[in-house]
Amino acid sequence: MRILVINCGSSSLKYDLFDMAAETNLAAGGIDRLGSADAVHKYSVRGVEKKDEKLNVPDHAAGLKLALSVVVDPKSGALSRLSEIDAVGHRAVHGGTKFTTAVEISDDVLEHIKSCTPLAPLHNPANIAGIEECRRLMPGVPQVAVFDTTFHHTIPKKAYLYGLPFEYFKDFGIRRFGFHGTSHHFVALKAATHLRKPFAELKLISCHLGNGASVCAIDYGKSVDTTMGMTPLEGLVMGTRCGDVDPGVLLLLMRDRGIGLKDLDQALNKNSGLKGISGISNDMREILAAADDDNERALLAVRVFCYRVKKYIGAYMAALEGLDAVIFTGGIGENASAIRARSCQGLSVFGIELDELKNGVPAFTQDGVAEVSAPGSRSKVLVVRTDEELMIARESARILSHRTVTRIILKSAHKPIPVGVSVQHVHLTQEHKDALFGKETELTKKNDLRQPGHWVSKETVSLIGPGGRVDRVGIICPFRKESQVEISRTLEFRLGIDAPIRASGDLADTPGIVLEGPRGSAKLDRGVICAQRHIHMSPADTEAYGLKDKDIVRLRAEGPRPMIFGDVLVRVDPNFVLELHLDTDEANAAELTNGSICHLEGIQGQK
Ligand code: ADP
Repeated sequence: MRILVINCGSSSLKYDLFDMAAETNLAAGGIDRLGSADAVHKYSVRGVEKKDEKLNVPDHAAGLKLALSVVVDPKSGALSRLSEIDAVGHRAVHGGTKFTTAVEISDDVLEHIKSCTPLAPLHNPANIAGIEECRRLMPGVPQVAVFDTTFHHTIPKKAYLYGLPFEYFKDFGIRRFGFHGTSHHFVALKAATHLRKPFAELKLISCHLGNGASVCAIDYGKSVDTTMGMTPLEGLVMGTRCGDVDPGVLLLLMRDRGIGLKDLDQALNKNSGLKGISGISNDMREILAAADDDNERALLAVRVFCYRVKKYIGAYMAALEGLDAVIFTGGIGENASAIRARSCQGLSVFGIELDELKNGVPAFTQDGVAEVSAPGSRSKVLVVRTDEELMIARESARILSHRTVTRIILKSAHKPIPVGVSVQHVHLTQEHKDALFGKETELTKKNDLRQPGHWVSKETVSLIGPGGRVDRVGIICPFRKESQVEISRTLEFRLGIDAPIRASGDLADTPGIVLEGPRGSAKLDRGVICAQRHIHMSPADTEAYGLKDKDIVRLRAEGPRPMIFGDVLVRVDPNFVLELHLDTDEANAAELTNGSICHLEGIQGQK
């Protein structure tokens, strides 16, 4: 599969052609100062680098024509015909709330991207121009939009809501979104490969430090917070953007200093950050050189920049409640050892310790990862080379192959899956049963469950959390090796416990709770989860559906309130009977009860 990646900025156009078989880059280029008669075009094909200057490139259509003349050229190009391009992947900056994954572009999708323009007025029009021109030039070639925002769609409400009147969120959609998602996702996956651990079992902080800069907290493979907000202005101090500022300052500047909206916009986006503080440049290389020459404002810019990075690393360690690795990436993160060193200074008390020598000259693996932490550092520090274009190509390939898989799977979608609704319950160890009910008391069966050998006892326990208690909670038998408490989001609130979404038995770093029985209580140090929705399947079921253990699928519930459930985990065991397990919140949302029916909609992820 050959995928052309197009990244249209307001006055630039970057392109890359990948052969996805071995992920080789066949051609790459970039046009700067697009929109003028003084454009610069740098490109390389088959390792030969070239640069053309003073070109007249009035708009994105002309830019794309120029790019395609490099990529497709029977004599010197990577391809000899346009039809050899199998798909085009477009970088799209803002997907709003609608797109939680990359998406194949249809007329409807394009309309929706257009409707997101007010959220990214500089970027989305350029992205749209690129998409429209590619559709015109390559009709019939699938086009995919990969959004900067989608990796962050998992950020919980507590992190994306501003402390503003709730109506601003409800009526105007004012909330945080986050950007650089493609890069954070790419480097975090690289880090997981390097650490030889599943992505879904790691707590990572990714610092993308380029002209634009953001930090992202990644908990078990999901973005749970990031420093950029509704727009890319929030968070870190950047090349020319201000990052976090007291909004009162902006009110004051407009009210008391007569600074108009346009000037303020220019100041915050173009004249702040490193450039504003140093008064020298937005380019970190120039600022570091000036700081070396004892230029005070350059030194100050470096200090402010690094302090903000360090502050967010600390904040996100708290948000993640632990940390496996910090990742540095982007032009500054990958190249500026002094910035990494300052950003990690003093963090050894939190288990982040740099190795000065390794950090000075990182030894990159072939995969573009260098470990720069000291041998005893509790959390690793990694420098990872980002490649947003390759990630866009990968995402495009995934979406298009998923489309094919979805077609296959739809053939078996007529086979319905019965629903089992799990109310809050506990699984106990023998020892905890003894502590709660006494050694001599045996638990007695109230009723069998659909999964063979599993039953609910007549006896119940109480859950006691920091925010309150919940009584008469059922116990599912037989005993387990470790006690586990499964609660819904609604109960979390009553108990005052934030339970992570986990598969049963995956209890590392989960919160604890106190259980109370008629004869005593038991304090669990961990084990409270909000169960990830899952389907129990026998190996025969997986054959029928074309699925494997640990696949992630999407299901369609056709009750009184039809609904699609994503992120459904497939669990396979010879003893399992086909059943979708939802908790009460999930079932109530779709008005499903025990025995309701769902259908397979498609595969979301396969290892
Ligand atoms: P963008 O956000 O535009 O993609 P990049 O990721 O290319 O930006 O990063 C650009 C930034 O990286 C600039 O501030 C540049 O000075 C900085 N940079 C690149 N190389 C080095 C280096 N060797 N040392 C310090 N800073 C560097």
